[in-house]
Amino acid sequence: MIYTCYEMIQDCRAGKPAGWRYFVTEYVPVMRRLLEHYFPERASDRDLLERVLAALYRPESSLFASLEPAPERAFVAELRQHLLAAVEADRASAAPEIELDLETLASALEPLTLVEKQAVWTETMRYGAPDAARILHIDARTVEKNRGRAAELVRGKLDTWRQSLLADNGAALGRAAAASRTAACCPAKTFFNAMDGRLTWRDRENMEAHAAACPHCVDHYCRLLEVADLLRTAQPLSPEAAQPYWRRLGLETPKVSVWKKMFAP
Ligand SMILES: [Zn+2]
Repeated sequence: MIYTCYEMIQDCRAGKPAGWRYFVTEYVPVMRRLLEHYFPERASDRDLLERVLAALYRPESSLFASLEPAPERAFVAELRQHLLAAVEADRASAAPEIELDLETLASALEPLTLVEKQAVWTETMRYGAPDAARILHIDARTVEKNRGRAAELVRGKLDTWRQSLLADNGAALGRAAAASRTAACCPAKTFFNAMDGRLTWRDRENMEAHAAACPHCVDHYCRLLEVADLLRTAQPLSPEAAQPYWRRLGLETPKVSVWKKMFAP
């Protein structure tokens, strides 16, 4: 019998241990990779993941409270947002030395197409060109070319500039983009359909026409592509590796089933 992400969300919302154990087993590896990627400077904080997990587990945590049952990719995209916010709440990151706000960046990048903007936006998500190329399914040289062009455009808007400007401002830019949703914005399903080649030519045109001019949708689309990329290679934890996390959340270990005992070597 297959236990789906839909059922897990329902069980976690209802506070059922089975849902949470599954959540830990399947998604702690994804959370770990996101932490390593977005907060490398906190790699020595070995308890960070457990603390953040405990914060998400609290009944008042909005991770499951506000979440309708959803397919896995949409769920993990939400989890990413909650995880990043939980780490910031745990300890706020330092402000960047040179600030770049979303409006300035959006106006600098105006001449770029949707995919060109995605090549640039993934730089705010701290991805180097090879990783961004894999996530976006485009050529790494194309990513580099567009980032070079964007750097010139952004420089033209600012008095001071540095190579790491987009990455330095990534967290704040991501929050601003996420908060800038409009009624005309595309739902996640539209982007998933685009990723899976299930949009008609006309729907794709409409999506691209809107998203190319909308920082919220550029960010949203990039995050969904990021999650799809993460899930392609994510491996669940073994029960032994999941045990410390289960214990931290006070989830009792499931009894080994009679069948498993019977067939154990
Ligand atoms: Zn939009």
